Amino acid sequence: MNQPFPDRWLQILESSVPVYKRLPHYHRETLQKRMQIFLSEKMFEECGGITLTEKMKVIIAAHACVLILVETADYYADLQSVLVYPDDYVAPVNEMDENGVVTEGLEHRKGEYWNMGNIVLSWADIDRNLYDNPDGHNLVYHEFSHFLDDRYGLTAGIDINGMPQRDDEWTHVLAKAFRRLRQKISENRRSSLDLYGAESPQELFSVATEAFIEKPGALHTEMPDLYKMLQEFYQLDPLRWRG
Ligand SMILES: [Zn+2]
Repeated sequence: MNQPFPDRWLQILESSVPVYKRLPHYHRETLQKRMQIFLSEKMFEECGGITLTEKMKVIIAAHACVLILVETADYYADLQSVLVYPDDYVAPVNEMDENGVVTEGLEHRKGEYWNMGNIVLSWADIDRNLYDNPDGHNLVYHEFSHFLDDRYGLTAGIDINGMPQRDDEWTHVLAKAFRRLRQKISENRRSSLDLYGAESPQELFSVATEAFIEKPGALHTEMPDLYKMLQEFYQLDPLRWRG
């Protein structure tokens, strides 16, 4: 793609995408190229009465493309639509208890990822965490990293108890991090990872991705193996970025 990056988008990056200013210059140029392709390929769907502005799309695309700065993952091939709601939305759920009794109900959600085809996001949640973000939450990193996990099968070799079923190094590192986070919760200890990561190995990978970009120093101090695994997978080193 040889079209110049629009000035309007650059202004949005500089004013509304804090990670942009942390990126080394060579990553900034790549990010712009990735975003142009992402924005030309992906469909956005307005849900729940939201009107999506160009600015919102640029902000979502920028964060999605930070994760594919070096390894493009074919630009999230197979991802057809990014569905955006104005705020948390309510989704029907069927839950089965241990006796096999199914309860139908409704659940509030901020975002979700549906088997490669669609990603659902709440704009309010993205917007709330863009600035002033000491907790390291970023819904776009979270949901798009589920996509990458699924695509590369990163957590596919870990059972729900955190036992590795495969013998490669990344699987072992992720499994250990998952068990450690669950252990910390049981001992009421703090973590640089969102405790939601203890739900499953898949959630562990997504909250780890959020921490990796948003608070790399804290993650590196707490779980250097996990930091290194993410550094190898994303081929990024946020510890060296500014700020
Ligand atoms: Zn998740």
